[in-house]
Amino acid sequence: MDCLFCRIVAGQIPAKKIHEDELCIGFFDINPQAPTHALFVPKRHIATVNDLTTEDRELAGHLLIAAAKVARTQGIADAGYRLVMNCNADAGQTVFHLHLHLVGGRKLGWPPG
Ligand code: AMP
Ligand code: ZN
Repeated sequence: MDCLFCRIVAGQIPAKKIHEDELCIGFFDINPQAPTHALFVPKRHIATVNDLTTEDRELAGHLLIAAAKVARTQGIADAGYRLVMNCNADAGQTVFHLHLHLVGGRKLGWPPG
């Protein structure tokens, strides 16, 4: 298994987990870009958004809802936050296991760089 996030899912690499359910885990990003920066990853390996199929419809929605719940428990829901999935080179994807970034706790610029 040479996928970093599959290893985190399997418990082979430590992570600061903030969420777990039957389909996904959430953990804090190792290099946070904001006071709150967490990642939500499906337990099953999917490389990029391009690899989602219609069978993954529930899983994709599940990631959004898990992130929104954690935004609430982290106390950033009302102030606001951003959910991001980077896909491939132009977006700067570095880990090729699907992940949803939850970023908040400060005012975020738009458009992104
Ligand atoms: P992306 O650039 O969208 O592929 O995001 C990958 C994210 O994974 C980056 O924000 C990294 O800081 C984060 N990351 C890499 N390794 C780890 C790790 N071991 N634990 C937590 N986050 C990580
Ligand atoms: Zn993986």
